[in-house]
This record gives sequence, structure tokens and C-alpha cells, in this order.
Amino acid sequence: MSSRILAVVGARPNFVKMAPITEALAAHDGVSVRLLNTGQHYDRALAGSFLERLGMGDPDRDLGVGSGSHAEQTAAVMEGVEADLGEHHADLVLVAGDVNSTMAAALAAAKLNVAVGHVESGLRSGDWSMPEEVNRVVTDRVSDLLLCTSADAVENLAAEGITEVVELVGNTMIDSLFRILEATDRAAVLSAQDVEAGRFVLVTLHRPALVDDPARLGEVLAVLGELAARLPVLFPAHPRTVARLAEAGIEAPEGVRLAEPLEYADFIALEAEARLVITDSGGLQEETSALGVPCLTYRDNTERPVTVELGTNTLVGVDPAALCEAALAALATEPPESPPAIPLWDGGAGARAAAAALSFLRR
Ligand code: UDP
Repeated sequence: MSSRILAVVGARPNFVKMAPITEALAAHDGVSVRLLNTGQHYDRALAGSFLERLGMGDPDRDLGVGSGSHAEQTAAVMEGVEADLGEHHADLVLVAGDVNSTMAAALAAAKLNVAVGHVESGLRSGDWSMPEEVNRVVTDRVSDLLLCTSADAVENLAAEGITEVVELVGNTMIDSLFRILEATDRAAVLSAQDVEAGRFVLVTLHRPALVDDPARLGEVLAVLGELAARLPVLFPAHPRTVARLAEAGIEAPEGVRLAEPLEYADFIALEAEARLVITDSGGLQEETSALGVPCLTYRDNTERPVTVELGTNTLVGVDPAALCEAALAALATEPPESPPAIPLWDGGAGARAAAAALSFLRR
């Protein structure tokens, strides 16, 4: 009997997390995978280039929901996923991460009594002001198969009374990272960006808590300017960040190279060769830990504590002065030895997640 799986993606980090699983599923006989792209991210740099680079092919359906308020995006994705499930039977809907598309697709499927599998389940920041936290908790609550990246996520679910069907499979984002990095000419990327290995700082900042506060954003840009007096600072900025900088009339200080988001392969090549990464992204905390590159996270909390305990991540809080101090200290000391790998962040998580999904469907 064949198994039909609907994989839903929609935003930049979704593609990176889902690709290793759809690829592993496609290698099994009797499994058909349908790919639905919600279009939550719609420009090429944040979406199309990822589908291509990760070899996901054209989606079977594109909802084109685009940007909008949280409710608008959630509603549009729910309607689109409901329609798709009405037209194409699915035994399991796979969703990934913590964006609005993730929660909306999970809710639409659950209401139709279609089983839901959540990739990157169980992460908790404990911070309800983050839209991602709401999305994570709701998605996990309606999911039937909970695929975890790390042991702390399994513990978080158990604390909420969720023990079935929870599988610790590892981090599929790291599968994509290793696979694409291996196929990328890092030296060419460094030269195109006019930087030297280990002699630049890479920055991404896009969480609303920071970029929607113009005064805070201006102070952080000033800190980056201070760092740029020592090493070039590359800041490929999310469209949201660029829009807020423009609205607030904030210009990049000298030496801070503000740019469009980079294509995935180029970005991870830079991440691997950076002297220091400064970010508020969840994915970057994980990727830098897997790469052994020091990372300062400009947030008060993290839903990825394993990157602090076993990886290279340091939480600096949201005080620009503390960020400046931590960054200057990091640049003044020799880069630390790479920590040992985080368990199951080994490039084999996609295959384990696919096996877990198939064994769930055989139950
Ligand atoms: N990324 C990218 N180009 C960029 C910035 C990030 O390809 O200019 C990748 C990064 O390597 C990671 C993912 O996008 O795989 C992280 O996405 P984002 O920070 O938007 O989401 P979060 O991880 O915070 O949910």
C-alpha cells in the first residue's frame, strides 16, 4: 500500500529543514510526496533560490499567500491547505519549524483528521511575546508525530505531557548545511564578497523585538560600526530589517556592508569562514554550532539551549553595550577550539526522520 505525504514549506528556514526529509522519503518505494509551498516568503532570495539549491524542484502547489498580518497569513494558509487536502488525499502532513505557515498547515490538517508530523518539535523559549513560540506550542499540541532535534526538546514535550509519538532524529538543517557546503567553492564566495577567511564578522538580525524598535536598532548599528573599525562587518539584511532601517532613516556606519539576503550556498560559505557571527536567528545558532564558529545571540533567551551548552553560542541579551563588550572580547581572543559535535547533528537526520515517518504510518 502506498503512503501519501504532503510536505508544507513556506519560509526560508522551512526549505532547509524539509529538503533532507523529502529527499529521503522519495528514495523509499511506495511513498509519494506532494510539496506545497505557502509562499509566506516570496522573493527569490528568501524562497525560490532555496528550492533550486536544495534540489526540491517546483512545488506541486503554490499558495502565494505573501505577507500580511499574522491572522491574514494564518487564514490564507489554512484555506489553501484545507483545499489541497480536499483534492489530494494525504496520510500525513509534514510541517517544519515555527513560522505562521507551520502552525496554519498543522491546524488545517488536524481539523480534517489528517495526521500531522512536526519537524523540529519541542523547542521552547518560554517567551510568549515571540510569535514563533505560539506557533511552536500550537503545532506540537495538534501534531501526531513529533520529530525532535535534541534531547531538551524531548524533555520539553514530556513536561507538557506529550510522550507519543516523539522521536529524537537530530537536526535536518545540519544535513542541508553539510551537503551544500561540501559542494560550494568557499574561496570563490570569499573573493566575491571581498573578505578573507577568519577576518570578518557576519551579522543577521530580523526579529521584530529588535528591528521594530528604531532606537534600539540604531544603537546596534552603532555597535557594528565600532566592530567595523577592526574587521569588515557583512550584514545581509532581511527585507523587514531593511524596511525598518529606511523608515527610521538609519544608515549603515562606515565598514558595515549592508546587503540583500544572500543565496543559501553563499551565506553558509561565509558563515563557515567568519571570525564571529552576530545574530538573532534560530537557524544561525545551530549552524554556527555545527560549524564551530563563535556566535553571539542578541536575545534574552533561546529555544536552542543545546547550542549554548554544547555548541559555540553565547546569549548576550538585548543590551547594545553588552553586545559590544562581548564582541570586542571575542575578537580579542584566539578563536576557541571547535567543540565536539552535538549528538545526531551529523548529516543523517533526514534519513532518520523519513524512517520515523514511515514507521509511524505503518502503525
Ligand atoms: N540564510 C541565508 N541567507 C541569508 C541569511 C540566512 O541563506 O542571507 C539561511 C541560514 O543559513 C539559515 C536560514 O537562512 O539556514 C535561517 O533563516 P532565518 O534566520 O530567516 O530563520 P530562523 O532560523 O530565525 O527561523
